[in-house]
Amino acid sequence: MPATVEVECENGDCELDMFEVHYTYDVPDEHGVDDLVCPYCDRDDTLAEIEL
Ligand SMILES: [Zn+2]
Repeated sequence: MPATVEVECENGDCELDMFEVHYTYDVPDEHGVDDLVCPYCDRDDTLAEIEL
């Protein structure tokens, strides 16, 4: 199965709770949550992967 990652935004002023990222099989190994930006507040330093 392609990876699915749940991400939360830790910016206290951001109204986004969490979102889910669905990757294809072609996602490079070096890609991580640090490469994403929050779709709500647009910051790239507040995202954290949720460990289930
Ligand atoms: Zn945010």
